[in-house]
Amino acid sequence: MGKKEEEFGYNVFIKGNRCYRCGHKWVQRENDKPRICPKCKSPYWDKPKTKFVKEDKRK
Ligand SMILES: [Zn+2]
Repeated sequence: MGKKEEEFGYNVFIKGNRCYRCGHKWVQRENDKPRICPKCKSPYWDKPKTKFVKEDKRK
């Protein structure tokens, strides 16, 4: 387990997920990782938005 500074990504809550794109949180029932966010339908829901900046603090 690595350090998690933000509660995003896969299994960050009790069997729950949070989308990087829209911030939507949901509880998954399946054992498999969801392919897309159920809200914004993004396949990159578990990936950070930026490719170049890892730590992007919004102002
Ligand atoms: Zn989303």
